[in-house]
Amino acid sequence: MRELLRSGGEDPDREGLLETPDRFLRAWAEWTSGYAESPNEILKTFDDGANAYDEMVLVRDIPVYSLCEHHLAPFFGVAHVGYLPRGRIVGLSKLNRLVGAYARRLQVQERLTTQVADTLFDALNPYGVAVMIECRHMCMESRGVRQPGASTITSAMRGTLKTDAKSRSEFLNFVSRR
Ligand SMILES: [Zn+2]
Repeated sequence: MRELLRSGGEDPDREGLLETPDRFLRAWAEWTSGYAESPNEILKTFDDGANAYDEMVLVRDIPVYSLCEHHLAPFFGVAHVGYLPRGRIVGLSKLNRLVGAYARRLQVQERLTTQVADTLFDALNPYGVAVMIECRHMCMESRGVRQPGASTITSAMRGTLKTDAKSRSEFLNFVSRR
């Protein structure tokens, strides 16, 4: 860290920067704490009592804070996660935790999207899963092609949400409703 600071022309010994390497490492540990989490563990305990519920469950605007693995630059935005239960449901906060467990790693947005979809699909065995993630990438906005405000949208559909146009458009309607 001190080398990095020096390489940009800074003096790592000036007062404002003395504690920075330590602070950075503590922050870094938090930003990458997803490696210590087991997404399957998060989804393990099923809430019961929804056997008759077979309509779509959707949690919208789950905050995403991640780091792009190519530039170690933040990308951030929201995730929308929906599924069509087949007997098993999961506490809604678990969807939030699932996204966080994968987001707090070095990522590319495409992989983050498919990991959330596949884990949910495997763990709950639902009829279908849909995940849509919209993020702004600092590596794109503030350098390189410099496209301020541009957001990147990725999606992953599994099961009937992939094969059935009606389910898919229901998900998209829910997601876009404001
Ligand atoms: Zn990047």
